[in-house]
Amino acid sequence: MNEKLLSNRLHMVARYLPAKAYFADIGSDHAYLPCYVCSIDPTAFAIAGEINEGPFQSAKNQVKALNLTSQIEVVKGNGLEVIGNYPVRQIVIAGMGGGLIRSILDSGKDKLSKIERIIAQPNVDAHLVREWFSTHHFQLVSEQIVKEDGHIYEILIADNGDGLIGYQDLGKELLFGPHLLREKNEAFIEKWESEKNKRLRVIEQMKQARNINFEKIASFKQEVKEIEEVIEGAGDNTCP
Ligand code: SAM
Repeated sequence: MNEKLLSNRLHMVARYLPAKAYFADIGSDHAYLPCYVCSIDPTAFAIAGEINEGPFQSAKNQVKALNLTSQIEVVKGNGLEVIGNYPVRQIVIAGMGGGLIRSILDSGKDKLSKIERIIAQPNVDAHLVREWFSTHHFQLVSEQIVKEDGHIYEILIADNGDGLIGYQDLGKELLFGPHLLREKNEAFIEKWESEKNKRLRVIEQMKQARNINFEKIASFKQEVKEIEEVIEGAGDNTCP
């Protein structure tokens, strides 16, 4: 398993695992991430967790083919239950919607007391994961936003600690991401341009309805205004 076989997205996730990581990759599919991390770091250990039979078998085959069975345990199960009694210190949940990531974390809360770091890569609705971190003692220490194959992905890194540290304007920063908002890179601007256009299209459709919901339209317009304020201030990194 070499670096070239791993997507930029998962490569970015891997960068946030420490040396000698002992991590659980939840929803591991082909176990690409554990295989990459364990092949470049012989002191790393991973649990590749999968709920579905097909991806579970793919993960097992991949680990076996790469001779990594002494470092990677492939476990079939729902969410964090695969952690069992393994001394896992980091959790990765990547490639799912923010709502599913939040519900996996919430259902497995009892497994989190010894977890030092959670790396989440929601495909959509990242704000739901930030919200969960902020109310469950996980401090958002870093964020990345990357573009790959036409998709824009956010990666959230949270360490065990005070979930509210690092926020100055909670409502706005939960939506946009406090770190991403400070940097406002190209991918961030592109994402929020597209989110703004989605809302503008919805507003136009709502105006055509027989019973127009003026309240909902006003709320979408307010969101468009907030997005415009954020993206128009791009380049001004002094204050989020
Ligand atoms: N993590 C990989 C990545 O980022 O490329 C694979 C992402 S794939 C789109 C999502 C995987 O999560 C699927 O293989 C699915 O079977 C698995 N999955 C979904 N819900 C799960 C759950 N509650 N527990 C464990 N695995 C789950």
